[in-house]
Amino acid sequence: MSHPTSASLFSRALARIPGGVNSPVRAFGSIGGEPFFTERAQGCTLTTTEGVELIDFVGTWGPAIHGHNHPRIREAVQVALHKGTSFGTPNCYEVPMAELICDVVPSVEKVRMVNSGTEATMSCIRLARGFTGRDKIIKFEGCYHGHSDALLVKAGSGALTHGNPDSAGVTRGAAQDTLLLPFNDLEKLESVFRQAGSEIAAIIVEPFPANMGLVLPDPGYLEALRALTQQYGTLLIFDEVMTGFRIALGGVQEYLGITPDLTAMGKIIGGGLPVGAFGGRADIMDFLAPQGPVYQAGTLSGNPMALAAGIEAVRMLKESNPYADLDRQSRILALAMENAFEQKGIPVQIPQVGSMLSVFFCESRVRDYDDVLRSEKSHFTRLFHACLQRGLFLAPSPFETWFVSTAHDTAAIERSCDILTQAIASL
Ligand code: PLP
Repeated sequence: MSHPTSASLFSRALARIPGGVNSPVRAFGSIGGEPFFTERAQGCTLTTTEGVELIDFVGTWGPAIHGHNHPRIREAVQVALHKGTSFGTPNCYEVPMAELICDVVPSVEKVRMVNSGTEATMSCIRLARGFTGRDKIIKFEGCYHGHSDALLVKAGSGALTHGNPDSAGVTRGAAQDTLLLPFNDLEKLESVFRQAGSEIAAIIVEPFPANMGLVLPDPGYLEALRALTQQYGTLLIFDEVMTGFRIALGGVQEYLGITPDLTAMGKIIGGGLPVGAFGGRADIMDFLAPQGPVYQAGTLSGNPMALAAGIEAVRMLKESNPYADLDRQSRILALAMENAFEQKGIPVQIPQVGSMLSVFFCESRVRDYDDVLRSEKSHFTRLFHACLQRGLFLAPSPFETWFVSTAHDTAAIERSCDILTQAIASL
């Protein structure tokens, strides 16, 4: 039987799936054209339903730090599969996973498993409010913490791409206790704390915001968040759904030596299956039901197949400690692009840390959401399509971070540098 083409699948998808996709960022809305359908994925490549092989820097939007379809993760899932897909009782994967997370993420003393990053951040907010008895939270413009109501205000990622940051359907009531501030602006933050510090339950922050492109904190900024929250009895929540197990095994908190009170996790700890987790100080986590008064639950939470995949993914990182190599490979890509753009006379900023990088078309360093919105967008559209034609898949939006995996070996990085250089020359 011949495979249906991406075009025919997408036209069927449009009839039965809103917008033709099950998550908005997968549509090619902001860069034009239609998405391709993937038949299979292996290592650092995707193969489309037409049989075209693409070097992939999306990495399933973060989880695929070991590349796609890693044999150890596949085997771990196969072993779990043979025992049954879900039990509805405690299972033998939950304790090793909890111990592993507490072992590697510095601030986490107790942890609860959930099914997505959205559930993890949403639960952190409820827990912070329940623990402190306060209502207000602070989030930063352009940070994306999933699609729960209180956090879908000036969010990044798909919400930013589609120019609809305040989603229809989010009531004023749900968002009214969310205070919005620009990232990297300590003065504004201090002034809000001076006015209302005793009412603020928590600050939630992507410590390295990666959903408006990659925006790095000014030196000392995150340390100041920690000091200020401690001063006012406010909880500091690091959303490490993207950065956890990626920037370092213990995330940004290990990398910078800052200890948040609560941490949201996801992506890599699912090994490609749907998993999230949140954890932190034991006295706070013990506020969760059944021990405490804050309710949180999930039919499939701690699912054995998902945890089998995640445990294997984290164990491999612990064994191989690939972080210096990932940083080196990513830097090679960034340098190749900087050279090519310089030759072309197009000003760019390419922030890069570890295996994360992104490209902004502007003259000076991008520090916040307003800087992101001011950057030039049309170059990215052309870069995206020029790369795709040549066999390289970037996230279909100028506001996403690129992910390098351990499967991007020297040959793949060299090939990627060649493609990027040619694509940039063609702009
Ligand atoms: N937090 C961050 C930092 C994210 O990048 C994302 C997703 O991209 C989420 C939360 C939400 O995670 P999920 O899509 O698994 O619900």
